Amino acid sequence: MVNNQYYFDAYFEFVRYADQKISEIEKKHTDKLSCAKGCCSCCEETSVLPIEFFSIVNALKENGLKIQPGSKSCSMLRRSLCQIYEFRPLICRTHGLPLAYSEDDDPLMKNISFCELNFKKKIPKFTKNNVLDMDELNLELVTLNENFIRSFDGELPERMELKNIVNYL
Ligand code: SF4
Ligand code: SF4
Repeated sequence: MVNNQYYFDAYFEFVRYADQKISEIEKKHTDKLSCAKGCCSCCEETSVLPIEFFSIVNALKENGLKIQPGSKSCSMLRRSLCQIYEFRPLICRTHGLPLAYSEDDDPLMKNISFCELNFKKKIPKFTKNNVLDMDELNLELVTLNENFIRSFDGELPERMELKNIVNYL
């Protein structure tokens, strides 16, 4: 088990910052979002960066939380609820919102994506003020991850499957 509280603390500070940004964008679209507890069509088995993986493992251990066998769509999903909700990774925190990503061949051109269950009546005009800039958040997350990997004593894969969290608890 990795024991590096400094990186876990830095990661969860980043998560708090990301949650703030997410909340700001949510407020701009409150009446158009269908996202609610128990709605889990967006949940699917996913992999995360090592810093996310081990921060989640560490937080679950600290809080004495166990994972029960989950659903086919995501091993963390049980009875339509996320078993790691408080500690879920960035990608899950942003589910459903209008997200802006740069295109690989043109970093100035942003793609916007959002859950098709949201904005069902009318798709608003998206501008940089009402979408979540994922490039900014991902850059910060990748930097945290690189620092963590450098400090890690041993080899780590680029990404780690969330379903393997149970093996570390
Ligand atoms: S980790 Fe939780 S929020 Fe993320 S896909 Fe799985 S069940 Fe859904
Ligand atoms: S993103 Fe879509 S599927 Fe996921 S909770 Fe929101 S409305 Fe439901």
